[in-house]
Amino acid sequence: MEEQEKSLNFIEQIVEQDLAEGKNDGRIQTRFPPEPNGYLHIGHVKAICMDFGIAEKYNGVCNLRFDDTNPAKEDTEYVETIERDIAWLGFKWGKIFYASDYFQQLYDLAIRFIKEGKAYVDEQTAEQIAEQKGTPTEPGVASPYRDRPIEENLRLFEAMQRGEIEEGKMVLRAKIDMANPNMHFRDPIMYRIITSHPHHRTGTKWKVYPMYDFAHGQSDYFEGVTHSICTLEFEVHRPLYDYFLDQITGENFAGLSPYGPDYRPKQREFNRLNITYTVMSKRKMLQLVKEGLVAGWDDPRMPTVCGLRRRGYTPQAIRTFMDKIGYTKVEGMIDQGLLEHVIREDLKETAPRVCAIFDPVKLVITNYEGEGETLIAENIDGHEELGTREMKFGKELWIERGDFLEEADNKFYRLSPGGREVRLKASYIIQATGCEKDADGNITTVYATYDPDSKSGTEGGNRKTKATINWVECNSALNAEVRLYDRLFAVENPSAEEGDFRDLLNPDSLKVVTAKVESSLAKAQVHDHFQLLKQGYFVVDDDATPEHLILNRTCSLKDNYLK
Ligand code: ATP
Ligand code: MG
Repeated sequence: MEEQEKSLNFIEQIVEQDLAEGKNDGRIQTRFPPEPNGYLHIGHVKAICMDFGIAEKYNGVCNLRFDDTNPAKEDTEYVETIERDIAWLGFKWGKIFYASDYFQQLYDLAIRFIKEGKAYVDEQTAEQIAEQKGTPTEPGVASPYRDRPIEENLRLFEAMQRGEIEEGKMVLRAKIDMANPNMHFRDPIMYRIITSHPHHRTGTKWKVYPMYDFAHGQSDYFEGVTHSICTLEFEVHRPLYDYFLDQITGENFAGLSPYGPDYRPKQREFNRLNITYTVMSKRKMLQLVKEGLVAGWDDPRMPTVCGLRRRGYTPQAIRTFMDKIGYTKVEGMIDQGLLEHVIREDLKETAPRVCAIFDPVKLVITNYEGEGETLIAENIDGHEELGTREMKFGKELWIERGDFLEEADNKFYRLSPGGREVRLKASYIIQATGCEKDADGNITTVYATYDPDSKSGTEGGNRKTKATINWVECNSALNAEVRLYDRLFAVENPSAEEGDFRDLLNPDSLKVVTAKVESSLAKAQVHDHFQLLKQGYFVVDDDATPEHLILNRTCSLKDNYLK
């Protein structure tokens, strides 16, 4: 018990304490509130694992709420992919809500604020308003419109909503405190006009749209959220979140929630996820997609959920990663090597091994007389229970060019004329006898002899050699397009560098080779995982067909992660 308590993260500790104190009648309700203005990325998954994880663990519910208050950037395309990605990760939401469901209630609340003298219409430009904000140590300057009569505010706000005022010409501001040390209290904007873009759900019905600070807490409140968990940058917004709620709860109770005057959602913040060699901002990702710098949101180099999926990441590995990094109040940067480490560990146990030759040269076994034969190889060495596969063997094989040296010193254990024995993976022992070259001196064929009594799986198969090499039989070999992905950025923290982040892209983040692969891959299905021996872990790409096999490198075999 003691053990278990120690491993609780700080949000879980808060939840357990709230439960112990009988808060909210033991009700646990969270929400995941994405703005449908882009695809989910792995940073969002950290929030998803928290929001859904708390609900799962404490018998609560986590709802999905689309925070769709800015029609200029949002689209139903994003709504659909967000739902798909969350389901793929293995989480189940209770209900789906939209902030736009509350536009009427929020508008009515804004009217109430105006009538109570708590909000006013400002006609200054965004620049003027920003200039008057002051600094953390200097108070702001009051807008000349701050004290306009309530009637006038009402009339203007209604005119804003009727579409009579041009976009950008007026905003509704909360009248709080221009000298507050928390800058968010210096008359924050509650509403702005957006008439240039219809809303993806409400069309042109609304001309005014609520700002995050006015919409978020109220939405939590309407729904009955108990724990409103978000990232640390919202910590400074929390007093404002509470301020708006104070105006409609307790003695100001407006009956907008079924849970009574004392109920209030509580905001809690944890550290954002940042990962080396990538960016974690939808805005930057959108730019990469729009400018064709990547192949799309699901480009396997992208840190999006769909990109990771296409790269060959499994939901389990991504969730294991989140468990490992944990939740704290300290911002930091996570080594991308850790992400690669968890998927490697996952695939190590499950991905069948197959041979693929990336830089092929032909090997002819001069003393092989048969028509060819079928060998049986274990999918994962030493794990018979994980099944076997057939490997065609014959007189002519593809091997890696680098596995043969015409003249080798005694540190080279692979093929070279001069009597050294090398095992062909899951097959026979051979010895190189020579090679043939073209006019430019490139090796075109390697010659070897084999020992018919050395077949793997027979007694002679136990004979040890210093090297084992991979091979694929020529007649049965398939061609595969192999996409060798690497890190998207060349620098550890592209967001911290000066200048344009697009100049920091890794020019070698994708190399494509055509490989010779063993015929067992004819049965491979989209999303199947394999280890290509000595090459890394690969997944069958979404665009692969039976005629055109495409394999994406998920990660290399080498683990660079320093624990
Ligand atoms: P971006 O900065 O990429 O646009 P966002 O925060 O604006 O992201 P939202 O759709 O508003 O994106 O985010 C939904 C939820 O996901 C929020 O609660 C937010 O705190 C959380 N979230 C976003 N990015 C991260 C991250 N890097 N780490 C952890 N949580 C995140
Ligand atoms: Mg946001």
